[in-house]
Amino acid sequence: MKDGSFPIEQFRTTKTPFYYYDTALLRRTLDTIKTEATRCGGGNYHVHYAVKANANRKILRIISAAGLGADCVSGGEIKACLDAGFSPDKIVYAGVGKSDWEINLGLDADIAYFNVESIPELEVIDQLAGEKEKVARVSFRINPDVGAHTHANITTGLAENKFGIAMADMKKVIDIAATLKHVEFVGLHFHIGSQILDMGDFVALCNRINELQDELERHQIRVKNINVGGGLGIDYQHPNEVPVPNFADYFQTYRKHLNLRPDQQLHFELGRAVVGQCGSLITRVLYIKQATYKQFAIVDAGMTDLIRPALYQAFHFIENLSSDEHKETYDVVGPICESSDVFVKAFDINRCHRGDFLALRSAGAYGEIMASRYNCRELPVGYITEDFE
Ligand SMILES: *Cc1c(COP(=O)(O)O)cnc(C)c1O
Repeated sequence: MKDGSFPIEQFRTTKTPFYYYDTALLRRTLDTIKTEATRCGGGNYHVHYAVKANANRKILRIISAAGLGADCVSGGEIKACLDAGFSPDKIVYAGVGKSDWEINLGLDADIAYFNVESIPELEVIDQLAGEKEKVARVSFRINPDVGAHTHANITTGLAENKFGIAMADMKKVIDIAATLKHVEFVGLHFHIGSQILDMGDFVALCNRINELQDELERHQIRVKNINVGGGLGIDYQHPNEVPVPNFADYFQTYRKHLNLRPDQQLHFELGRAVVGQCGSLITRVLYIKQATYKQFAIVDAGMTDLIRPALYQAFHFIENLSSDEHKETYDVVGPICESSDVFVKAFDINRCHRGDFLALRSAGAYGEIMASRYNCRELPVGYITEDFE
């Protein structure tokens, strides 16, 4: 065994490709989140795990057991969370296009609140809650028009994005909610994007929220919960050196810059930062192919198993778990019939041979959950450490 953190002996009898989740690291990450959130917010900081990053049942169970809430973006995710033991009063539900059955599911389960993204949606929730003689708790997702220094496909808080309600309409929707019998306004929600490493982006969000709160207070409007979404990034370049994101810095940024009113609760929706570093996609080298100017390591995993490089030009550090030999330069590519089925170009890896195990690191978030069956491929299985003990 080369790297102590991978049970490579057990890997030999496991069909590749597959996801491997290091649960010791996941638990360490969850402990850090709880410690740092409590240090900064006492009992007023609450973290909801953004389920869309990874809804593997075993992972969800570990996260719910750690006491985090859940941030869902579909009825399917709400079901997965109820199934995995999340308490409904810690489930929140966002999304620009909630179907009636999804709203009804949330109402029946009595989730904490809906993050509402438009006036027509608010009216439908009021109507459906009325049919059940219930009152739905709603929070308004406000588009803060704050840019995040991240990939264009994953910024969400700019005026041009489809998400949320414009700031100029905030007061109006709160007033409308006050006239509706079956909704109760409980908070404001924001989410500016993903893979954010510049704390200045979160500072900009805090400043914007402070302004909005001041404006509401001039109208004697009090807000129970402020939900600042997620977006904290991970270090894809250095998965071994920085396995746990800097949560201390993250929560301190909010403590320092967000003017939280007494009794107000601050909600976070972290996805990538919770699960990203604990997961690896494990694949075998099929062939080493020498081309005119380069050499390819052709592996049995493809963009159907991990689409991030093809979709966002994302980088995943790749390690050869089977070889200690000198490094050589490879393009690591999959077997899918698409030119974008490339994991990395010109990357140095310990010399590869047919049958070697490669680990594509930092693949715990937006990996397994985005897998597809394109080319009639089987979906990759997700294993956790305990599966190999
Ligand atoms: C995707 C998403 C998150 C989580 O984002 P991460 O970058 O994974 O932390 C949080 N809230 C909402 C509304 C989202 O859509």
